[in-house]
Amino acid sequence: MMTRPKKSEQEPASQEIVEVAPNILRMQLPIWLPGLGHVNMYGLIDDKGIAVVDPGLPGPKSWAALKSRLKSAGYKVKDVHTVVVTHSHPDHFGGAGRIAKISGARLITHNAFSTWSVTGPTSARGALSEEAARRLELEAAMVAQSSDVHPDEIPTIDDLSGVIHDDTVEVETTGQKWGGTTPWGTENPGPPMKRRVMIQALRYLFDSPEPTHRVHHADRLHLAGREWWCIHTPGHTVDHLCLFDPVDGTLLSGDHVLPTITPHVSGVNQADSLKSYLATLDLVARLPDVNLGLPAHGNPFLDVAARVAAIKEHHHERMEQLRSAGIALGPASVQSLSREVFPKRHWGVMAESETFAHLQHLLNAGGAERYEEDGKIMFRMGDRL
Ligand SMILES: [Zn+2]
Ligand SMILES: [Zn+2]
Repeated sequence: MMTRPKKSEQEPASQEIVEVAPNILRMQLPIWLPGLGHVNMYGLIDDKGIAVVDPGLPGPKSWAALKSRLKSAGYKVKDVHTVVVTHSHPDHFGGAGRIAKISGARLITHNAFSTWSVTGPTSARGALSEEAARRLELEAAMVAQSSDVHPDEIPTIDDLSGVIHDDTVEVETTGQKWGGTTPWGTENPGPPMKRRVMIQALRYLFDSPEPTHRVHHADRLHLAGREWWCIHTPGHTVDHLCLFDPVDGTLLSGDHVLPTITPHVSGVNQADSLKSYLATLDLVARLPDVNLGLPAHGNPFLDVAARVAAIKEHHHERMEQLRSAGIALGPASVQSLSREVFPKRHWGVMAESETFAHLQHLLNAGGAERYEEDGKIMFRMGDRL
């Protein structure tokens, strides 16, 4: 039987440290998430020490790998003066709080950054509303759960036994609302019990990534001996941040642009996340002389504009598929529409969330109508678009 070659995002974390651009090191940390084998922690070197971007998942295994990579590169955790987190997913912020605690590093995120333990800035959100809190909770549950899981990519309780059985800390297992109903009205069972316990434990045990600097679009940062532009790129998450060095044309693209995988676009907490995503894809493709993409997963890539074009094409095709499916089915729920366009092995809340994002975009573009029936959101396709 032919086995398909692995996509570079799926390769297991290599121990090799590669200088991918002058004073920029690629260090790979292991992760246990569906469809991904590693996260790239970039080390940006200057005469003051090192800054790191996206220091991996919470938990002891990732932390051990992080320390060993830094050591191979000639640094200690104490030498880290800055941590940049591109967005609020656990494989990107997991080690950030712990580094900051040990080294006193400044911790930089986009202004809108928030997680289960970090509330967004008052200016951007006001106090976190019940509704926003519920959605963040749901999104965390979805990331943890996901439908596209290969069995050996699922973290097990054993992977984290050092954390779980830490008897100085009480692991709380009640009072958190897992599951419930998605915004589009299907039941969301949440992650399996083992995963829930693990995630709960991590919530109470890890050092929360409290930003010391919340940057805005077009702010400048000095790292690796050069000036970077902060580029706010909502879509994959609301708080996604890319960094761009206009002199060399280097883009730290986070999960906004990946080399072979199309990043997940969540329908959970943005009114039209696909609109933001498509617009900010164009934004990065148009950056002056952008010629090197350094993604959070997978290999560096050269033609950023071509990659952007391919990702946009994928989303336009997906909307066409949904439109045809919706015309054939008549009025349909998000779940039934998602099952028309995703293969069975992908069915679940992640696929529905991505479908919902596409349907909301069709709705806003006048290509679909939306109404509610028995607590479920239904879509009907129009003839425009
Ligand atoms: Zn992400
Ligand atoms: Zn990621």
